Amino acid sequence: MKVLLIGGGGREHALAWKIARSPLVDMLFAAPGNPGIARHASCVDIDVDAHDDLVAFAGRERVDLVVVGPEVPLVAGIADRFADAGLAVFGPSARAAAIEGSKIFAKNLMRQTRIPTATFSTFDDPGPARRYCRDVGAPLVIKADGLAAGKGAIVCRTLEEADAAIAECMERRTFGLSGARVVVEEFLIGQEVSFFVLANGSDALPLAVAEDHKTVFDGDHGPNTGGMGCYSPVAAFDDALEKRVMDTIVRPTLAALAGEGAPYRGILFVGLMLTSQGPKVVEFNCRFGDPECQALMVRAPGDLVPLLLAAARGEAWPPAPRWPSLASVCVCVASGGYPGRYATGLPILGVDAAEARPEVQVFHAGTATRAGRLVTAGGRVLGVTAVADDLDRAIATAYAAVREITFDGMHYRTDIGRRASRSETPSAR
Ligand code: AMP
Repeated sequence: MKVLLIGGGGREHALAWKIARSPLVDMLFAAPGNPGIARHASCVDIDVDAHDDLVAFAGRERVDLVVVGPEVPLVAGIADRFADAGLAVFGPSARAAAIEGSKIFAKNLMRQTRIPTATFSTFDDPGPARRYCRDVGAPLVIKADGLAAGKGAIVCRTLEEADAAIAECMERRTFGLSGARVVVEEFLIGQEVSFFVLANGSDALPLAVAEDHKTVFDGDHGPNTGGMGCYSPVAAFDDALEKRVMDTIVRPTLAALAGEGAPYRGILFVGLMLTSQGPKVVEFNCRFGDPECQALMVRAPGDLVPLLLAAARGEAWPPAPRWPSLASVCVCVASGGYPGRYATGLPILGVDAAEARPEVQVFHAGTATRAGRLVTAGGRVLGVTAVADDLDRAIATAYAAVREITFDGMHYRTDIGRRASRSETPSAR
């Protein structure tokens, strides 16, 4: 069969690596792909926002399955376009993707369905938003309603910070129209985990859980990034907790979406805070997380493609192998200055040496090829990912591989997975 993968980051490289291993797949295209993806797929130079061109390409090539990586085209309705053209697409419709595209939609859905989440109120005017903050008190979280490239949730320790966040979203419009409306919500305390579930419109299949490290510096210091690394599984998220999350959060959410005429097909990323009162939803995303996808793909058992097809076609799940009790770690190697300004076009050395270890995959997130040389082309450059029998070994292997790699200004966190490795041993998921 022919598969078209849309996207060109570390998440899509990990998906390409896994999809290309499927015996069902004869041809894998990626649009636009990247130099790492090009090792597993034929890259076509079409941007993820060029919906017309992507649909025309998929039709011309008669692809059997389209897999959409990023959220922006999904929220903009790319899955609807492929479905209208009669193509099987892994990724939710625009109406279902609103679970990520509009935080107000997601929060109202959770309120109606009694899904545990932070208490909240929504505003389209800064005055009442500021007054509400005073009523509830700090700390609290201000969230732009729409997509904001992962920057739209602002944790505010004081009312002054909350005022500034409201001004940034609603008055200065730093996030454009996405910040015209905001959610003000309770600050949740606990361990944050990312839980991934496949959905076929009516039924859900749990995949696995990971813990992301969002801040740029060791010890959870510095500004937030798209993710500096993660590990999987997370011991605290055991089988009993997974069942509870499936019963009280995932299934009611999917039922509510189906009830609104927006059945969800694709991957549902459930961002959870494990609070003292139980798991609560921090956010839903309509796609795999990055770097979580990298850590998940190297652990994922068997062939992923039949599961993606069942989700895309709304069919019953084929028998799915149980996830092995392997641990994986992804360490993101970033450009100097990231998440602020950074240079690009810097030559990258040592990727081959890093990948020489059988337990290691180096996924490309922000790379390009110039005159036959691999160079940096983004903030997060590479995801160095290792899998092992236990977390300590996965951490040691990943960092040994990271140390093979060099480019000017390169930086990475040195503590990915460390907190967990001291206190936890992996469970089956
Ligand atoms: P979001 O864009 O909603 O995923 O938020 C980004 C990050 O902000 C999350 O991954 C959390 O670390 C943090 N965050 C968001 N909402 C809350 C909350 N209600 N309580 C505590 N932290 C939060």
